[in-house]
Amino acid sequence: MKEMIKNNLQTAHKPSASNTLTNVAAEEPATTANPKPLVGDSKKVHDVVIIGAGPAALTTSIYLTREDIETLLLEKAIIGGMSAITDWIDNYPGFPDGISGLELADKLRQQAERFGAIINVGEVVGVEKVKQHIKVKTTDNQFLAKSVLIASGSDYKKIGITGEKQYYARGVHYCATCDGAFYRGKKLVVVGGGNSAVQEALFLTRFAEHIDLLVRSTIKASDVLAKELAKHPKITTHLGITPQEIVGDSQKVQKVVATDSNGKKRDFITDGVFVFVGLKPNTMFLKDSAIELDSVGFVKTNHNMQTSVGGIFAAGDVRSGATMQIASAVGEGATVALRIRKYLES
Ligand SMILES: Cc1cc2nc3c(=O)[nH]c(=O)nc-3n(C[C@H](O)[C@H](O)[C@H](O)COP(=O)(O)OP(=O)(O)OC[C@H]3O[C@@H](n4cnc5c(N)ncnc54)[C@H](O)[C@@H]3O)c2cc1C
Repeated sequence: MKEMIKNNLQTAHKPSASNTLTNVAAEEPATTANPKPLVGDSKKVHDVVIIGAGPAALTTSIYLTREDIETLLLEKAIIGGMSAITDWIDNYPGFPDGISGLELADKLRQQAERFGAIINVGEVVGVEKVKQHIKVKTTDNQFLAKSVLIASGSDYKKIGITGEKQYYARGVHYCATCDGAFYRGKKLVVVGGGNSAVQEALFLTRFAEHIDLLVRSTIKASDVLAKELAKHPKITTHLGITPQEIVGDSQKVQKVVATDSNGKKRDFITDGVFVFVGLKPNTMFLKDSAIELDSVGFVKTNHNMQTSVGGIFAAGDVRSGATMQIASAVGEGATVALRIRKYLES
């Protein structure tokens, strides 16, 4: 899996100081979909710059580039976003037997690149309106655009208890697909009671010998998942349990100390902890911008999916009111492409 993710990353192209097709083609690995890697140009004004390369962003880029609207995507991590790190997707239309998240992500990337979308590695750190254009700053570059789409999705929430940071990636994890295989034949604790927690706990039973699922209140997952959970022999669900501390020997995790609904201390001996307690929007880079966010940090948009700043749009999981599904992210991606085209025409 790690190798597949690495290959996926290699398909985004890191812009060099002197952006020419020739010098970059010599430096960068070729891809099957795009044998001559393209890079964004920091000197020209791009038609559209998209922040992120998840399902929403890739769909928008398919629609725009197919109509010859030049589009640059800036991605800080993995092409395909959250979908690329989801083990199996059963509810995305068109795949009656389901599809692996990584395969879906790769198909979206190939389709976007087929029409000429340019995908660069780059973490966006700021967005600002400069006269009639929009400046998008990354950690090592900046790009000008006539229009910008924020499609930066959301990230895992932390529980914020002692030990969580200390044992991060050494026993504390947020991605079952990425790290589950390290726990073959081991004991695990999974924290959370929503769809993601239950879905990922079920996935982790492929590796773990036993899983204690710690749920603060009640199971909030869908009926289908809740039923599957209830009958799974490898998972014990504990309701009303609040984790207080992750304890280890400084090298590896040994137990989770928690309290039950009566305040009584409970210890859960484990080799690792997977946390799935929700998502927070990837909007830190907007903190100094004029773009309006809702009370929990998601980007507010109007019925045209335009933000409070003209020419800047938002789609997918980062948008206030989004339904947090791939099908809806893709739908928003298509809708916003038409809105952006109209904006550029005007
Ligand atoms: C464990 C799990 C299981 C899921 N299972 C399903 C499922 O079965 N079915 C389903 O429909 N949905 C599922 N989802 C939800 C689905 O993955 C998301 O709704 C969907 O991926 C949202 O797409 P998006 O394009 O809006 O955002 P994302 O997929 O989050 O993509 C956003 C991209 O932006 C990038 N980015 C963020 N900040 C910056 C920055 N500053 N600069 C540059 N790039 C940036 C990120 O790296 C990311 O690649 C699951 C999610 C999780 C976490």
